[in-house]
Amino acid sequence: MKIHLDLDCFFASCERVLDSSLCGKPIAVGGRGDTKIFQKEFCSRRLYDKNRGAFVPNLFYSDVGEKKQDFDTFFIDKDEDRVRVRGIITTASYEGRAYGVKTGMTIWEALRLCPCLLVLPPNHLLYHEFSHKIFEFLKLKIPLVEQYSVDEFFGDLSGWVRDDDLFSYCQELKQEILDKFGLPISIGIASSKWAAKLVTNSAKPFGVREVKPSRWEEFIKDIPIQKFPGIAKGYERRLKSRGIYKLGEIKSAKSLFYSWKKPGISLYKRVLGIDNEPIATNHPRKSVGISRTFDPLKERCEIKRRVTILARNLFYTVSKLGLNPTTFFLKIRYEDYLKAKQRVTIDRLFNENFFKFLILDIFDKIDLYKDFKIRYIGISVSNFMEYKKRSFDILKYEQDLKFKKLGDCIKTLRDKHGIDIVKNGCEI
Ligand SMILES: [Mg+2]
Repeated sequence: MKIHLDLDCFFASCERVLDSSLCGKPIAVGGRGDTKIFQKEFCSRRLYDKNRGAFVPNLFYSDVGEKKQDFDTFFIDKDEDRVRVRGIITTASYEGRAYGVKTGMTIWEALRLCPCLLVLPPNHLLYHEFSHKIFEFLKLKIPLVEQYSVDEFFGDLSGWVRDDDLFSYCQELKQEILDKFGLPISIGIASSKWAAKLVTNSAKPFGVREVKPSRWEEFIKDIPIQKFPGIAKGYERRLKSRGIYKLGEIKSAKSLFYSWKKPGISLYKRVLGIDNEPIATNHPRKSVGISRTFDPLKERCEIKRRVTILARNLFYTVSKLGLNPTTFFLKIRYEDYLKAKQRVTIDRLFNENFFKFLILDIFDKIDLYKDFKIRYIGISVSNFMEYKKRSFDILKYEQDLKFKKLGDCIKTLRDKHGIDIVKNGCEI
């Protein structure tokens, strides 16, 4: 049996550990596009890379103790003659959810639903540190444990705890985490990782729920398909167009899923709880990315400066992970939801110089609407050489090797003094 652990309203719970007067009240943590990365003034930023999971975002933080921001300075924009509340809800406490406040809602909307809602600016470094401590603790309690996201973990207790004792073991674990860290957690127990993740939803808040394999079909019978981890908009549409609305209806559609080849077969097995996917203690990263949303901007010179900055930060992240990507992806979004993207695969020794010019080159190619304002840039890299044997482009190898060596020296400097200690000329 596998378990899935999910911290309850994690960001809000962390804030309550720091300030107990927030307990029992409708509170929420909000967020807004972090564009500090683009500022020209020097600020010593570092990468927090202790948490490594499939869905753990890269965290850049300033190490010169930033002063804590309050609601007005973080969420309120005053330009010329108007005052605007910006940002969205990232996590709401259960007291806030009772008013209808949800993740992803604008703060403005949330405050309309719940005028007494206390919205706090985020403190991601705190959340990442808590997450890391909990992961270290779980490693002592569970022989195989995987960090999945900043507030979710998978575990396998086979051979450590008897199946009959799993439920009480998890209940004790849940209590221990609350006592030790002050954070409530919920745990789902089932035959596979994804089944356990689905079960956790019905264990929340602060609960443990186990669904034995013999009861699985009955458990999923009436659950809407979109509740299953991995059934996103695409699959939802495809399944609904064939009259499949509930998880219980999937078993009899085996041939349909099998006609979708590997992804379909894997999803079919996941839903039935028979996928047997192992806990990935050493998570092979499939891709690493960085993106920013900002107020729409037309100035191409500034956009390119921003592309360069994101490329530099992503380069540093990837080199910290010790990976050599060979597929590079850039996506931009224009003001009116028009978008452009391109993916390029090149087998080269990864270095900052090559990477920067490649991304800028892709940008020039895909930016066809030069009169339109841009509001989003996202860069990601994948197809790592470490996991798939490939050979380097021999013609560029000598030159790349030189840049790689230079890059190693710059990395040492950045490790010591922050990522911004070495910038590109065009960024200043
Ligand atoms: Mg959670």
